[in-house]
Amino acid sequence: MTGTIAISRQRNLGIIAHVDAGKTTLTERILFHAGRIHRIGGVDEGTTTTDHRPEEQAKGITITAAAVSCAWGDHALTLIDTPGHVDFTMEVERSLRVLDGAVVLLDAVAGVEPQTETVWRQAERHGVPRIAFVNKLDRAGADLDRAVRSLRDRLGVRPLVLTLPDGEPLSAILDVVRRERVTFDDEGRVASRVPCDDPRIDAAREALVEACAELDEALLESFVEGGDVSAEALLAVLRRGTLEGRWLPVLAGSAYRNVGVPLLLDAVVALLPDPSEAAPLAEGWARAADAPLAGLCFKVDFDTFGALAFVRVYAGVLRRGDVVAVQSRKLRVGRLVRLFAAQREDVEEAPAGSIVALVSADLSTGDTLSEPSHPISLEPVRAPDAVMRVAIEPRTRSDRDRLPKALARLRVADPSLRVIADPDTGQTLLGGMGQLHLEIAVSRLSTEHGVTVDVGAPRVAYRETVSSRARVDEVLRKQTGGPGLFAHVVMELEPASPGEGFVFEDRIRGGAIPREYVSGVRKGVEAALGSGVLGHPVVDVRVRLLDGSTHPNDSSEHAFALCAEQAFRAALRQAGPVLLEPLVRLEVHAPEAHVGDLIGDLSARRGRILGMETERDLVRVEAEAPLAELFGYATDLASLARGRGTHHLELARYAPVPEGVRVRS
Ligand code: GDP
Repeated sequence: MTGTIAISRQRNLGIIAHVDAGKTTLTERILFHAGRIHRIGGVDEGTTTTDHRPEEQAKGITITAAAVSCAWGDHALTLIDTPGHVDFTMEVERSLRVLDGAVVLLDAVAGVEPQTETVWRQAERHGVPRIAFVNKLDRAGADLDRAVRSLRDRLGVRPLVLTLPDGEPLSAILDVVRRERVTFDDEGRVASRVPCDDPRIDAAREALVEACAELDEALLESFVEGGDVSAEALLAVLRRGTLEGRWLPVLAGSAYRNVGVPLLLDAVVALLPDPSEAAPLAEGWARAADAPLAGLCFKVDFDTFGALAFVRVYAGVLRRGDVVAVQSRKLRVGRLVRLFAAQREDVEEAPAGSIVALVSADLSTGDTLSEPSHPISLEPVRAPDAVMRVAIEPRTRSDRDRLPKALARLRVADPSLRVIADPDTGQTLLGGMGQLHLEIAVSRLSTEHGVTVDVGAPRVAYRETVSSRARVDEVLRKQTGGPGLFAHVVMELEPASPGEGFVFEDRIRGGAIPREYVSGVRKGVEAALGSGVLGHPVVDVRVRLLDGSTHPNDSSEHAFALCAEQAFRAALRQAGPVLLEPLVRLEVHAPEAHVGDLIGDLSARRGRILGMETERDLVRVEAEAPLAELFGYATDLASLARGRGTHHLELARYAPVPEGVRVRS
């Protein structure tokens, strides 16, 4: 279908929100309006179309980033599902990589919530243009002004209100740009649009025009002269400012009550970018169909039909039957499909800007697809290191036999899952980004792969770094008959800044070690980073290669790798190894009466209070605490706050474990 639609009429968008803001409901409504589902489902009945995994329906949260296509007027929309839970940060990151614009969804009672903030920051980092939808305006206690203020205060953005709720109970939307009152039928379609004089429209429109006048000379003139500014002129400037991230257009409504969704879709089309509006991929490499092919596989899903690899095409055209380069391999493109709410459709080709799924088991998340004559490598989606792990034990012999393959498939779909063999017990450890992430992985093992495992107690994943500088001079010499091994390396190891990871500096001057052996040194050190002297991954270290020497016959890249590995381990021991543990930023909401207990409990968990604020009858406490002390926190908080506490955690950083704290790894 979109094969024939111009790139300027495509929109790839995601909805970003805190859990429960109504993302599933809104997605459902959008797919309905965009003409592909013929019956409105409801999350509460577990019949929605994007949540097709059993555990998503059970938990009521959206886990995987599937892409669903639909159409709005003469525009093709693809909705890229972004998960609402912080444990799935990698999924959010990779969705943000492939979408062009986002709708920030808020609950009109709660306003900006912790996860809204987390995902907002990620979207900002990726430069994704955004508009906002304030949902649930039908609820008692809903307040558009307060939600808008929370956008300004907590996200530091300039909100511009484009539509307003009308009626008590909510029954219509005031369109500020067009000065109209819009009503909806039972299924949410626009029922009527009539011109409307309302002081609320006047006030909001004045703010809009004023903001736009700052950006556009012509608009400024008509504003100063007191003339009217047409809706089209206003929208054109609003679009420019939105793409630049100058402001955040805000729309109002209720997904559940079917009020306001068509206006949101109009705004998606009018204000969010089309796929060609981002920067070129590389010099001279336009995001256009007549450029050489460049595509990124951002998601692999396994369903009853087999593997489905979702690919975002940035440039060129991906055609069925073509042979494409995937890194250094070749791949013949087989079936291509597009997913709609209720069905999949075969397509012959997917042009620049579109998102398509390959029915193929030969792609992994992060693979780049390009033309063999014009190879390109797009930056892969980085899989973060695990912060937590559990031991898993297959129940039966047949489970044991099938476990490795099932784990490998889980990893293809989600590279932020790690599989490690415990060196002491031989048990299989599953690493991930948080408790829920691991729970879901274990549940998928059983529901999707029929492998049942018993799960041990969760442990945090420690890391290690160094506290001082060390210099080592290491020689590797093996000359026992046959070809020998010789390498000589002088290197320095020192702490790097937190978050820097691993930094390698080549300070060899005058060719004391030839370049190919230097790459051996780097590989040797990288091999040693996986497990340091305390048995954990080594992070935030800088290695400086200073000097060395070679042997005319016995030196090789391999010899230098071995020598560097030994040298690095020796340096680690000398440089004062330090054990690091994950710290999380914790936000707790609880009734004021329980604040004393709450803070006492957090201190007992080695927590540090960062701030406190009262919002209506609830206190919001922000703290930083070690993840290791927070297992089971949900249960403890529930009893401490008599069931009225909620909390949210997000990995903040790794920090040294204080003296005297017992560690179980
Ligand atoms: P998600 O977690 O963001 O996907 O949120 P859901 O779509 O699952 O919605 C969470 C809950 O809020 C469900 O019980 C919905 O029925 C309800 N909900 C969603 N939108 C609205 C709305 O506009 N008004 C009201 N009152 N409830 C809503």
